[in-house]
Amino acid sequence: MKTVLVIGGGITGLSAMYELHKWKKSNQANIRLILIEAESELGGKIRSVHESGFVMEAGADSMVARKIENMSFIDELGLEQEVVYNSTGISFIYTEGNLKPIPADSVFGIPASIESLAKSTLISAEGKVAALKDFYTKNESFTVNDSVGSFLEHFLGKELVEKQIAPVLSGVYSGKLSDLTIASTLPYLVEYKEQYGSIIKGLEANRQKFKGGERKFLSFKNGLGTLIEAFEKVLEDVEILKNTKVTKIKKGNSHYQIDLQNGETVEVDHVILSIPHTAAEKLIDDPELEKGFSGFKNSSLISVYVGYDVPDSILPADGTGFITANTDELSCNACTWTSRKWEHTSKSGNLLVRLFYKSSHPAFAQLKDMNNEELLQVALGDIHKSLGINVEPIVSEVTNWSEQMPNYLIGHPKSVEALENKFATKYPGILLAGCSYYGVGIPDCIENGIASAKKISQML
Ligand code: FAD
Repeated sequence: MKTVLVIGGGITGLSAMYELHKWKKSNQANIRLILIEAESELGGKIRSVHESGFVMEAGADSMVARKIENMSFIDELGLEQEVVYNSTGISFIYTEGNLKPIPADSVFGIPASIESLAKSTLISAEGKVAALKDFYTKNESFTVNDSVGSFLEHFLGKELVEKQIAPVLSGVYSGKLSDLTIASTLPYLVEYKEQYGSIIKGLEANRQKFKGGERKFLSFKNGLGTLIEAFEKVLEDVEILKNTKVTKIKKGNSHYQIDLQNGETVEVDHVILSIPHTAAEKLIDDPELEKGFSGFKNSSLISVYVGYDVPDSILPADGTGFITANTDELSCNACTWTSRKWEHTSKSGNLLVRLFYKSSHPAFAQLKDMNNEELLQVALGDIHKSLGINVEPIVSEVTNWSEQMPNYLIGHPKSVEALENKFATKYPGILLAGCSYYGVGIPDCIENGIASAKKISQML
């Protein structure tokens, strides 16, 4: 009897196991399925916390709906009635002591009409005049391989980019605009400039496309943890070992030997390695792999939820959160008004907010070594300064994802391919999977988990 082991019970590992389990049933296959998870709970970067009528997420809070709706697992798991969608509203930029709305008719902060530019409260009259250069200047040198920051600044001016576009775009693509290429962010802008003579006009002419592509997000009434519980429940024919860390993988003549921290060993034929690359690289002693793993990097993120015994109507009407423009004003990069954006997260309609602290922020150097209580105090300071709220919270939840956020470098696909090839030749039957390599979004992880399971089932 063949044994398939999935290491890591995050969403990638669970969806891989879900697919293998389905395959086993429909083929009445005589295989042993084992899932090993180091922590006491499955879910990895998905974990919902329930307290005082609030739902808080330690990690991810939602999934891009368009991608999930094309998959079949919500129906298969019987979760249709549990699904909830986000409310949309105005996002603000916090700048110079004020919350200013990101103009409605804009794409990543780039005006999609002259009215949108004219009405912006984020930039000065001079900044608006400078942006008009976009209408009368031709693109003579920029290609998609140039920096998106220089391209936008050249045509739309420094002020518009710094005060309105960069806060949004840097947040979405996690990096300085000067370090990001047009190709890796908004490749169509060069085409628009060519075709319409202006970036703004190009966005205006393609408005429908952006409206249609408006990002709608999906979660569950009791939080994303519902998905993890549902997967776990259906995996009845799988040996699930929690609180069990894999410490080494050794290649034998016909099997792989898996060493566990509790001193036990398991012999298996196939392995899906759905753990972060930092954990995977410790499992096999092989200098060649070490080199392969060195092409991957992580960054850090701290999330702080704060819930109050105060109705969330105290915040500006229709608002759903803000992004910070100037790093010397607040320590956080962004603040989501969670109870506004996600009705299910606050049973009483009381205010729940979530602040994000990223390693790209200069203040992060001090934050990264703070304990949870100190981090909460920083968050309360930011909330007081930006939202004017200075009452005692009734709940809080701090999560420090230190060096655990995959950061795809230029050349990432090549690094993945090189590592895959090394595994295929030296360690056949072991597959890499998950957020370190194949996309960080939950739908990408699910797709990758399923694809990995299908590859394994073809080998069985
Ligand atoms: P993980 O969730 O990291 O799972 C890996 C598992 O392996 C863990 O459970 C770990 O304990 C286990 N493990 C590690 N080493 C070992 C070992 N040696 N032995 C056994 N087990 C081991 N994505 C979205 O789509 N939408 C969002 O809104 C969103 N927001 C996010 C917010 C935050 C704060 C974070 C941290 C992430 C967010 N993401 C979001 C990204 C998404 O949550 C992750 O990319 C995804 O959940 C990763 O799943 P995974 O299974 O690949 O890895």
